Amino acid sequence: MTRPFNFCAGPAALPEPVLARASQEMLDWHGTGMSFMEMSHRSSEVVDTVAAAEATLRRLLDIGDEFAVIFAQGGATSQFAAVPLNLGGANANFAYANTGQWSKKAIKEAGRYGEARTVASVEGEPRTIPLQDAWEDVGDAAYLHITPNETIDGIEFHWLPTHDVPLVADMSSTLLSRPINMDRFDVIYAGAQKNIGPAGLVILLVRRELYGRVMDSCPSMLNWQIADEAGSMLNTPPTYSIYLAGLVFEWLEAEGGLAAMADVNKKKSEALYGAIDGSDFYGNPIAVRDRSWMNVPFTLADDSLDKVFLAESEEAGLLNLKGHRSVGGMRASIYNATPPAAVEALIAFMQDFEARHG
Ligand code: PMP
Repeated sequence: MTRPFNFCAGPAALPEPVLARASQEMLDWHGTGMSFMEMSHRSSEVVDTVAAAEATLRRLLDIGDEFAVIFAQGGATSQFAAVPLNLGGANANFAYANTGQWSKKAIKEAGRYGEARTVASVEGEPRTIPLQDAWEDVGDAAYLHITPNETIDGIEFHWLPTHDVPLVADMSSTLLSRPINMDRFDVIYAGAQKNIGPAGLVILLVRRELYGRVMDSCPSMLNWQIADEAGSMLNTPPTYSIYLAGLVFEWLEAEGGLAAMADVNKKKSEALYGAIDGSDFYGNPIAVRDRSWMNVPFTLADDSLDKVFLAESEEAGLLNLKGHRSVGGMRASIYNATPPAAVEALIAFMQDFEARHG
């Protein structure tokens, strides 16, 4: 079977070898005669598999015991509330950088639990993240929250703010796409459905010294310390999703780890932006400095051709190129599991489309 190239922003393409292995193991996991999905989360098989997934993730990110690794549920959206609830116990003043649609949602949700102040906002045309000297002072906020990659807008931090307060990052669409310097972060959360695994699972990396700042009203299911102490099993966790994420972590290690991913991801995005910039027929609204490696939005100079572009690209086996409903145009999401061949096929299609319609 030839699989089409899937450019969906999430749930997104998963590595084919991972899907093949999961399908081999579906009916009979490691000679047990059961699917992994059918096993008790308290069984040694599941507990050991979750521990192995955590260990592989720790190796990939090079993190020690100062960080908890938590497998949580409720999507990244649940963490929009969990962040203020876990960190705002003594000080309900929060600082946020607003770099796009997902930042806005995080800010709105945090505003339910305290004062969520926007200290920087994306501006101008092309869209740019202001450098830190133009930011408002973070002051003594309980934390500073950033969204390193805005999945809808295709805008990304290629630098990190300096600050005296804990740095919290929604890395839903960028975690595992390249190495990160964990010394600079205090809390990272990421919905799994881009670079990690199936939707619904959330990966949390929490600096343990932050425990104790929790609000009394924080539900147990959102409390990071409780989740950590329960080994991510306060209740029945999404066992199959964690197993699949574990297979993705193993695949990443076999591919050479995050440095190797960074190399490929950088090249893929450069090729695609190069094709967009090299033509008057296509455009990208983001300042070159802040362009995302993961989500590449692009517009057609004549938007009456959008529908034709989408129909023809789908026909050519290039799926899910429609931009988010809030911004229109096109968007190609090119996460780890999207091979360079997919980007090459997209560029060839775009050039051919321009030759026929330009
Ligand atoms: N943050 C970012 C940056 C995202 O891209 C998404 C999902 N696209 C979310 C948060 C929300 O994730 P979920 O749907 O898993 O709650």
